[in-house]
Amino acid sequence: MPSLEEARRLILERAHTLGNESVELIDSMGLVTAEDVAAPWQMPMCDNSAMDGFAVRRADCQDAARLRITGFIPAGSLEEVQLDPGCAVKIMTGARIPAGCDAVVPYEHTEGREEFVTIKAPVREHQHIRFAGSDVRRGEIVLPAGTVIRAPEISMMASFSMSHVTVSRRPRVAILSTGDELVELGEPVEPGKIADCNGVALAAMVKATGAVVERLGIARDTRSSHVAKMSRGLEADIFITSAGVSVGDRDLVREVLTEMGMEQVFSSIEARPGGPTTFGVKGERLIFCLPGNPVASMIVFDELVKPAILKAMGHKRILPAVIRAVLQEDVPKKPGLAKFLRVRLERGGEGFLASSSGKQTTGMLKTLSRADGIAVLPSERSSYSAGDEVDVHLISDYVLRLEA
Ligand code: AMP
Ligand code: MG
Repeated sequence: MPSLEEARRLILERAHTLGNESVELIDSMGLVTAEDVAAPWQMPMCDNSAMDGFAVRRADCQDAARLRITGFIPAGSLEEVQLDPGCAVKIMTGARIPAGCDAVVPYEHTEGREEFVTIKAPVREHQHIRFAGSDVRRGEIVLPAGTVIRAPEISMMASFSMSHVTVSRRPRVAILSTGDELVELGEPVEPGKIADCNGVALAAMVKATGAVVERLGIARDTRSSHVAKMSRGLEADIFITSAGVSVGDRDLVREVLTEMGMEQVFSSIEARPGGPTTFGVKGERLIFCLPGNPVASMIVFDELVKPAILKAMGHKRILPAVIRAVLQEDVPKKPGLAKFLRVRLERGGEGFLASSSGKQTTGMLKTLSRADGIAVLPSERSSYSAGDEVDVHLISDYVLRLEA
């Protein structure tokens, strides 16, 4: 039975990028560039004004100079304009600097808009001119391969009029729930049945990584139903199942997947909740069999599945963000097993304080919903006490909650 770290290592050494694909910029957020992006032209493309004001010759601007207004250059104008000595040209932000101009005087420092303008403040050389190439040189690599695309990167590519970008291909991730007790969302739920929480929660988590979700619905606890759904799941790059991996009489997931060609890498981890987590491969495809319990399946997703998805997408930072926090209460735990403790965080002392978000039994969904993070208590120790420092893996929106 591998430790959490060992399990992660066994998974990540089998997770690889899947080639490249071209996606529209608007769909590229959070994806990773697969090729260098070089600037096809310099930026700005030409000298242009940083202010609404007047294009002038600085030498003309001594002592409240009064200049004749000889033209107007709006943004986007392609007209070639000449600025003559003793004159000024009205210019808007982003408009091309006229020939002969070496400074722009903002409206705020002038008086007069019609025939003449008076310059009312000293003028520095080159003031309020954005020079061609001052941001990006032509041919410069603006986004090296391996860059995570966020809004500034999208904006950069858009500024070069690119409509598409080549990224590491998004893995196709299939999600299958198993169990006779499960009911599709929206269907009536009678006592003894439960709605398929995992199917939708795991799909949402996969979607948030940027991977492509394929929802396979529910397999019933029969061999034929498993085979029918799993044959589709095994066509995906990554196949995630939930439930049916404990020691119950109808827990068929491992058995059926193994018959269908899965090579099992491990069938449990040294951590709770999430003990029966199983991982295998079929060729290059990764197969994760998560426990049915919603809390366990979501924690294991964050700890083990998401890093594999991110690695396959070309990300380098793939592990959960961690902060150190001081535990606020004693926590009993089994030696030899790491414990995932749902905690709330607050600022205090030198950094953060972590306290249990409520009852920690695996079935309690509310305490995961209330948590800001998961304190990961390593397997070696048999107990933790108030005052001990622990690692807390952050759940993504924790900052908002801390500020609330
Ligand atoms: P199992 O591993 O099949 O014994 O399932 C463990 C627990 O997780 C049981 O209480 C199941 O009812 C519950 N469970 C299984 N699948 C789901 C699911 N898709 N959504 C919510 N709970 C589930
Ligand atoms: Mg079951």
